[in-house]
Amino acid sequence: MSESGNRKKGFFHEVETMDPDQRRAYLWDKARHILNVAGDKSGAFRQRMEKAGLEPGQIKSLDDWHLIPALPKKDLVHLQTAGPDLGGLLTCPTGRLRHIYMSPGPIVDPEARQRDYWGFAEAFYAAGFRKSDIVQMTFSYHFTPAGLMMEEPLHEIGCAVFPAGPGNTEGQIEAMTRLGVTGYVGMASFLKIIADRAEKKGLDLRKDFRLDVAFVAAERLAESLRTELEDRFSMQIRQGYGTADLGCIAYECPEKKGMHLSSRCYVEICDPETKKPLPAGQTGEVVVTPFNPDYPLIRLATGDLSAFSTQQCPCGRTAPLLQGILGRVDDIIKIKGQFVYPAQVAEAMAGFPGIRAWKLVATNPGGRDRLSLNILASREMDTIPVSRAFQDKIKLRAEIVISDNKADFSDAGSGIEDLRTW
Ligand SMILES: [Zn+2]
Repeated sequence: MSESGNRKKGFFHEVETMDPDQRRAYLWDKARHILNVAGDKSGAFRQRMEKAGLEPGQIKSLDDWHLIPALPKKDLVHLQTAGPDLGGLLTCPTGRLRHIYMSPGPIVDPEARQRDYWGFAEAFYAAGFRKSDIVQMTFSYHFTPAGLMMEEPLHEIGCAVFPAGPGNTEGQIEAMTRLGVTGYVGMASFLKIIADRAEKKGLDLRKDFRLDVAFVAAERLAESLRTELEDRFSMQIRQGYGTADLGCIAYECPEKKGMHLSSRCYVEICDPETKKPLPAGQTGEVVVTPFNPDYPLIRLATGDLSAFSTQQCPCGRTAPLLQGILGRVDDIIKIKGQFVYPAQVAEAMAGFPGIRAWKLVATNPGGRDRLSLNILASREMDTIPVSRAFQDKIKLRAEIVISDNKADFSDAGSGIEDLRTW
């Protein structure tokens, strides 16, 4: 039996409950070490600092951290090919690594030899994984780090792992039922496929399966899907946020009030243009410094959008909460000096069930920015409340255009289109 009576209690790492000042001192200590190593050994980092006329010694606290120029994720590919040892991004010879992966892009993702390199152990513990769980790992073990990245924390906690990899639904069901698997790691949508297939075969998800806990990632998790699966299997499902370059960035605790920042990196939410930090509550780009001395990706700008919650979490963890991933930087536009996010428009439209899709189009006839909000709705719809809701949320005015032709909208349904020319 697993030691599973306390899936909602306890902490993996003492940093999780440090008071904010103590935590900031801890993070600065780690960040300063990475800065010194990168300054000494990473040619690519030294060049980045020199371009900005900066010396590592000028960064005297986390308050100065934003002075370091950010590294956009899209620059990684060409930087990595600029010379040996990933163009000087590595501070050790490539042959000293434990694993080397290639993720789409194609970006090389090195993994060095220290324990819990990707930093997911505290995330899995918070999700409810405990010693002696039998865990089925359905992320891929080939090319990308996903499978081994997610397996590592399970060993740290003391679980047994069945390395299933993705696909082969029949085989997954057989292994889960035969081995008495208690934990699932993978995509929530795949767990649903497994559940549907198993029921079709006449299996009982509560009696024939022993699933009790799951960690899901790599796709947007709909609350309705989580609730459905938690109920069908009678289990607890939590999600995490990480990338193949960085490892764990944030994760949910039992309270599900957002995702706590991991204690193995320093995370900023920044203005997508200037890369300067924004106050809690404002949406911006996730900029991460993982504490990996062998591959010091200082201030990697992920292109993901999120915001810090202004709430405290009752679970006892003191790390700030991210409010989920709210989109990609590529999906936003700047109009009349301000950013417009698809998530904001979606929120404004959420109050109108009659709107089946929307498309925000920016144009600039005669050099003046203009917004029109095309909505898929009945021609009889009153557009005045729609216009008001848009203006309340976005603080900009848009002309509302009704269409009843689905072909005017993309397959995804809703989004922003920038047709401005300069
Ligand atoms: Zn919490």
